Amino acid sequence: MPFDFAARIERARRELTARNADALLISLGSDLPYLTGYTAMPLERLTMAVVPRRGDVVLVVPELEAPRVEPQPGVFRIRAWSETEDPVAVVAGLVGKVDRAMIGDQTWAVFVLALQRMLPGTEFHSARPLSEALRIIKDAAEIELLRRAGASADIVAGLLADYTFAGKTELEVSRDVGVLLEANGSDTVAFTIVAAGSNGASPHHEPGARAIGNGDPIVIDFGGKVGGYSADTTRMFHVGEPSDRYRQIHDIVLEAQRAAVAAVRPGVSAESVDAAARDVITAAGYGAHFIHRTGHGIGMDGHEDPYIVAGNLQELRPGMAFSIEPGIYLPGEFGVRIEDIVVCTDEGAERMNRSPRSVTVVD
Ligand code: ZN
Ligand code: ZN
Ligand code: ZN
Repeated sequence: MPFDFAARIERARRELTARNADALLISLGSDLPYLTGYTAMPLERLTMAVVPRRGDVVLVVPELEAPRVEPQPGVFRIRAWSETEDPVAVVAGLVGKVDRAMIGDQTWAVFVLALQRMLPGTEFHSARPLSEALRIIKDAAEIELLRRAGASADIVAGLLADYTFAGKTELEVSRDVGVLLEANGSDTVAFTIVAAGSNGASPHHEPGARAIGNGDPIVIDFGGKVGGYSADTTRMFHVGEPSDRYRQIHDIVLEAQRAAVAAVRPGVSAESVDAAARDVITAAGYGAHFIHRTGHGIGMDGHEDPYIVAGNLQELRPGMAFSIEPGIYLPGEFGVRIEDIVVCTDEGAERMNRSPRSVTVVD
């Protein structure tokens, strides 16, 4: 997918100007590949893109990692530093004596502190607001990757209807879900949560040795990546027929999810979408058991802005991508969560996930 990195750098420079900042310094995390196409290894050696308001963009990389960088002529030049050099001094030399620099949130503290010592006249600010401004609205190419990542997860959700759960452990199922993702369109596996029985009452349960048997409800929350963009969907499976109580809870969550998806349109606040889901669950008497926000943004990171949570007054705009994942968690019994990724469009929400949202009864 050929992204226009030069255009992204130009937008970053405009954001710097708007914030009266002189330079943007980006190290680990998704901001670097967003701007340059290069993902730094999260190791102890410094990698940092120096984006001045004017002038050349320079990617400072350890000499031994420089061969990993795909050159982007006209976007940045590479400054490889050798083992005996001080990379912080290299960056400080490139930044120069400026008043304000914005630095990526995912920069090791050791480098931030060293830069502050070396450039005592420079104020350092978090680049998070700038990064959010750049990345929160997805363009058509990014949405297409989200769509493909979602379609891959949907294929796997469909295949799981014919999968035999009974007799396997959560961990075995989790590994199989990962294999299925990579065999059905995902480049890599992002995560595969499998929670059986009462483990489903823990939203971020770590799949373990628990054996799955007849009568078990199973929460599967999973996704891979396509072209660097993430999927994230949750579906409910049940070994044998579920109880009436389970079906009743599932219906409430499904209605909450439907209500929140229906609430998505440009101009509404993020918190109003949370409220649309929460009102349904609260009215049914389970408000205290919906113990997390309704959703999170998604893109190159599995969790990013915008967060669909009470208190977030941010208005939705076309191109924002986020999850809608209400749940009800009953400790000692089970949990139910239903999750789709949606993209806000002028017409409302476009779902990136279309696999059936009903309980899938399995063996
Ligand atoms: Zn989660
Ligand atoms: Zn999820
Ligand atoms: Zn999620």
